[in-house]
Amino acid sequence: MLVYNIAIATSNINLKNKYKMEICIDFDGTCVTNEFPKVGKNIGAGPVLKKLVEAGHKLILFTMRSDIEEVFSEDETIHKVAGNYLTDAVNWFKENDIELYGINANPKQKTWTLSPKAYGQLYIDDTALGCPLKLAYSDNQATMFIQYVDWVKVEEMLKTIGVLS
Ligand SMILES: [Mg+2]
Repeated sequence: MLVYNIAIATSNINLKNKYKMEICIDFDGTCVTNEFPKVGKNIGAGPVLKKLVEAGHKLILFTMRSDIEEVFSEDETIHKVAGNYLTDAVNWFKENDIELYGINANPKQKTWTLSPKAYGQLYIDDTALGCPLKLAYSDNQATMFIQYVDWVKVEEMLKTIGVLS
């Protein structure tokens, strides 16, 4: 029996499809395999994310990716280099026809907080404690294994807590 986010699970028992969540979603290792700066491979996130949007939930991309890469030189000077890293992630959502409500911020939170953390009621991130992961052999010689979000298990968990039916 999964007991993640139990407060939501218990409060949602009779509220299925009424309580709409703002869900912050990491990108690398979560929506795709982590192959930063490239966009990684499909790991089955798309269909589950689509179901969340269709169920009325709002997705906020919450990623370290930026279109400005900060590179530190040996003297610790920061050099800012333009890139398309964040745009590539946003385009992945567009290409998969998944609507984004926000990018690294909840569009409405500025009305009630100055906090820099994107506000959501749920976060899905491959580095979050409790996030179910799959382990696979890596194509990269430098690392033997890669791990990424197990979306079959995540979908089960979302059903358990009443976010998906
Ligand atoms: Mg990640």
